[in-house]
Amino acid sequence: MANRIVNFNAGPSTLPLDVLKIVQEELLDYKGTGMSLMEISHRSPEFDAVNEEAIKLTRELLGLDDTFHVLFLGGGASTQFAMVPLNLLPKDKCGAYVDTGTWSTKAIKEAGIIGRMHLAGSSRDDDYRRIPKPSELDVPADAAYLHITSNNTIKGTQYHDFPEIPNVPLICDMSSDICSRVIDFKKFSLIYAGAQKNLGPAGATMVIVRDELLQKCKDGNPSMLDYRTHAPKKSMYNTPPAFGIYVVKLVLEWIKNQGGLAAVEKVNRAKQELIYGVFDTHPDYYRGTADKDSRSWMNVTFRLPSEDLEKKFIADGKAAGLGGLKGHRSVGGCRASIYNAMTLEGCEKLVEFMEAFKKAN
Ligand SMILES: *Cc1c(COP(=O)(O)O)cnc(C)c1O
Repeated sequence: MANRIVNFNAGPSTLPLDVLKIVQEELLDYKGTGMSLMEISHRSPEFDAVNEEAIKLTRELLGLDDTFHVLFLGGGASTQFAMVPLNLLPKDKCGAYVDTGTWSTKAIKEAGIIGRMHLAGSSRDDDYRRIPKPSELDVPADAAYLHITSNNTIKGTQYHDFPEIPNVPLICDMSSDICSRVIDFKKFSLIYAGAQKNLGPAGATMVIVRDELLQKCKDGNPSMLDYRTHAPKKSMYNTPPAFGIYVVKLVLEWIKNQGGLAAVEKVNRAKQELIYGVFDTHPDYYRGTADKDSRSWMNVTFRLPSEDLEKKFIADGKAAGLGGLKGHRSVGGCRASIYNAMTLEGCEKLVEFMEAFKKAN
């Protein structure tokens, strides 16, 4: 076996070893075709089966019926920042947004370019340490939708309670926590997620959109930027990110084989408890950057007493086989990303290392 590290990268990030092994096994000859999946037509029965299965598994795991379209598009989550208002923000309405840090800020910027943006809530004044409570939000009656970011990958915060505004469709960027826990996905009218955190390799972006919302899409967009181009074609209007969809399908099967989102949630709960437990034992040494009730189960962000110690922590971690512990370049500090594919054992190793590092430094 190759020399694999415990990989805490934030994105692209670690993938389940079992999935990578299947990819390796099937890489040169996909199911007796004599070709790699990367080399076959996206119109072939082999790829069609992969795409259909990925759609089916997504609906099954998230508890959605076929009134929800499941698409796999290119362009990353960042293209969705624009596609959402391009399709769903008409001139006579506003798009309501909650600003919980970098990614939502970027979504807000795109909405402002395309139409009328209304800031429904923000934790900017608290340096994004927390998620605004649903009761704090101000969503105008003429909002075409409310957009939130379920997990702030950079500041390490996550919604544990979702707002519900009567008659206002809820749209969510779930790039960094999709499929990580049981939630009522039917509450959402549109969900999008770049694959490279919790679902697979970079390149495929999952978009789940309620049929009812599709009916409200604005006319006049270029074909590739119109959800109505992709939905009836099941993402095959043009060449979809085929290899990415294939790996996403394998990751979804891997989730299903464990017992679905409930089983994954159980492991994720245990993982974050372990690491935040160290913060709570040594609050003056490992200083979490998120408020307790907004802590992310996916990205654990923290500071040490000095930047020099942080540098040493990251370097010593790397030497001990724990990679990717550096915080995002925009905020500094340390971050352990513990997406679905990170094992409990990996988190135990990190906790051991944290305890030993504190003793030694
Ligand atoms: C990584 C990330 C993005 C950006 O995704 P791209 O696929 O690189 O465009 C957007 N939102 C969230 C929450 C993310 O974590």
